[in-house]
Amino acid sequence: MAGDVLTADFKAAPYWWDLAPRPDITDAAPPKEAEVAIVGAGNVGLSAALTLARRGREAVVLDAEAAGHGASTRNAGYLGRQVWHKYGDMVPKLGRERAAEVCRAAIAAHDYAASLIETEQIACFYRNTGRFIAAPSKRVFDGLARDLAMMREDGVPVDAEMIEPADAPPAYRKGHYHGGQILRGNGTIHAGLYHAGLLERAARDGAGIVGHCPVQAIEREGSGFRISTPRGAVKAGHVIVATNGYTPRAAQWLRRRVVPVDAFMIATEPLPEDRIEHIAPGGRPMVEHRYSPCWIRPNEDGTRILFGGLSAEPPADLTQKARILRDAMVRIVPALEGVKISHCWTGKTAFTFDMMPHTGNHDGVEYAMGWCGSGVPMGTYLGHKTALRVLGDPESRSAFDGRPFPTWPFYTGRPWFLPLAVAWNKRKDRKLFRG
Ligand SMILES: Cc1cc2nc3c(=O)[nH]c(=O)nc-3n(C[C@H](O)[C@H](O)[C@H](O)COP(=O)(O)OP(=O)(O)OC[C@H]3O[C@@H](n4cnc5c(N)ncnc54)[C@H](O)[C@@H]3O)c2cc1C
Repeated sequence: MAGDVLTADFKAAPYWWDLAPRPDITDAAPPKEAEVAIVGAGNVGLSAALTLARRGREAVVLDAEAAGHGASTRNAGYLGRQVWHKYGDMVPKLGRERAAEVCRAAIAAHDYAASLIETEQIACFYRNTGRFIAAPSKRVFDGLARDLAMMREDGVPVDAEMIEPADAPPAYRKGHYHGGQILRGNGTIHAGLYHAGLLERAARDGAGIVGHCPVQAIEREGSGFRISTPRGAVKAGHVIVATNGYTPRAAQWLRRRVVPVDAFMIATEPLPEDRIEHIAPGGRPMVEHRYSPCWIRPNEDGTRILFGGLSAEPPADLTQKARILRDAMVRIVPALEGVKISHCWTGKTAFTFDMMPHTGNHDGVEYAMGWCGSGVPMGTYLGHKTALRVLGDPESRSAFDGRPFPTWPFYTGRPWFLPLAVAWNKRKDRKLFRG
């Protein structure tokens, strides 16, 4: 039965883990004391740990599971230069000056991550491919063009061009998209190798990494904190919470401010090079410009196609999910009919109530989370900035400082409303596709 669309060796696990398996750091006990305790060993926690370790600070990173269990090794590996919001939507809320500042920060985040890859020589197949933003309709196409003109007017250094429907990649089902936009300067990486590179550099420079050590409580003790885990407590001068879509009850104030959303991905079996080039010319990945987007990209060496999307459904059965995603992929790229799926996986990404990333300090606890789809570059960058804040370095300043971190009354961190929100987004998306 599975033989129809799944390969015989199908894995319900991230494709990235084949080349970058999760490190099994189970034996190390947490230290009794550390200058800084970091909760969460994703890209954000490790980026903060690397910066602290480089400045000679004693940092320990605690993760509830194996380091990298979270979205950092499950994502699509897009290294973008933008935030979730359209520029035109940010301007009425923030004003033109601040909206432009946020866009520049997103570019700085990309550039920080890209230069880290280069200077640290992290072998993660980074490619500066650009990105194709697919427009579901002429209305969206026109909106993208207006946004681009406005950003240019305000001096945002965005490098992009509009792509008429006739010039869009020919592999997409005819008429499915009304062209779109190419955003230059965006890149792709192998998500697992990027995380493994950060982990290796942070550990090599002296950061302690302790897996399978869930933080159960964060309490004030003297001028610092007591971090409780089942394997002993850590007394720390500072604490950074970097748990994004996995934020636990131990950080309830933050948990109430992020909305975890399950995202799903599939990888195809290996395909001939010319077929991949036809679907993603120049290795360029695609993302749809809509409320509940799908995305498609070649893998790190251009031998497979990876496809994904967001969902409100719990990740119950990944073989079933693989079939659903495969069908969605073939609806967009008919040339992939008959291709088998080798991997299907899921991860939790986090959105916020204002759809902006947040970093700051609440009751002494430092945090960086709520990436709204751009956590790979933005998380690396703001993890670094959070570490600089702990060090009292004025370079810690970013466009996201001092912003209130909103929540909803009665929201406790369990997003019961998500199926409704997704249904609402689907309704809005249907309208977008109708133009
Ligand atoms: C399928 C998918 C595709 C995505 N694609 C992209 C993309 O292409 N580009 C992009 O920029 N973003 C993408 N994202 C989002 C991006 O992956 C995340 O925003 C980013 O990786 C978050 O990093 P993080 O370090 O904040 O959190 P995570 O990597 O999620 O790490 C959080 C960690 O906290 C740990 N934790 C939880 N509770 C505790 C506790 N009590 N004690 C200790 N540790 C705890 C978890 O075990 C986990 O390891 C995607 C996400 C998904 C799921």
